[in-house]
Amino acid sequence: MSEEGCLYICATPIGNIADVSSRLVEVLSSVDLIAAEDTRVARMLLSHLQIKFPEIISCFEGNEVKRSHEICDLIETGKKIALISDAGTPAISDPGYIIVREIINRGLKYAVIPGPSALTAALCGSGLDSSHFHFEGFLPPKSGERQKRLKQISGIGETIVLYESPHRIEKTVTDIVSVFHPDTKITIGRELTKLYEEFIHCKCSELNYTLSGITKKGEFVIIIENKQQQTQNILPPLNNQVIKFLESGVSPKTISSLLVDFYDVSKREIYQKCLEFIKEN
Ligand code: SAM
Repeated sequence: MSEEGCLYICATPIGNIADVSSRLVEVLSSVDLIAAEDTRVARMLLSHLQIKFPEIISCFEGNEVKRSHEICDLIETGKKIALISDAGTPAISDPGYIIVREIINRGLKYAVIPGPSALTAALCGSGLDSSHFHFEGFLPPKSGERQKRLKQISGIGETIVLYESPHRIEKTVTDIVSVFHPDTKITIGRELTKLYEEFIHCKCSELNYTLSGITKKGEFVIIIENKQQQTQNILPPLNNQVIKFLESGVSPKTISSLLVDFYDVSKREIYQKCLEFIKEN
């Protein structure tokens, strides 16, 4: 009987070769086949690690469905296969989940070899609230769609993590400035784990100016500590104020004019709140 096959989902460095784990070296040295996003990038990594190449096949966005069947067929015959992307963790804005889903559907063996990801590196270095976060990855390339998507996710009320390329960073930043509250805290992580790694921290209102002072070369992660959360937090005190004024006989129109400067909501929203309260009581 042949040995049991297995898929190893392997994270690789996002720029610093020293981030390779001994477990990754062990797995890449022992598999029968490597399925790589780009076979040339995989060869460079293996040369660096002085690992004798096993067979390498490509597995990218365009052929992932076909490859998922081929890879599972091979694992059923007892082969051990490593899945790697160009950098970081497979299935995080990279191919991977379609293969893993097929492996699960067929009841085959698999293991994760965790390691670097720009997502976790940027988030933990941001100093922003990471208790809950929304990973968005890449936004749509067209500005209209990008702004629409930003408006949608601004409603989630959690820290947002975006990936961005150097040629689109300025346009994306302009759209972020147009959607989020000026006081929203932002961190940009650039060239993480590399020689010129930097973290830039600023408010949304300062973002365009801050970006003008740094090079647009390299790879970027943008983290937005979404203001929505703070807006929600102020609602209980606002409600109490509205109730107090209404009970003293002040009109909804006057209440909204009085309170608008103290809360991060519009006059109209306060007016609506008054009407809701009157209706319910
Ligand atoms: N799977 C990868 C991961 O686990 O992070 C992400 C792959 S995605 C195709 C590539 C994007 O990740 C880049 O455009 C950039 O936004 C981000 N990225 C990758 N390496 C990075 C680095 N060293 N510094 C900052 N961002 C990086």
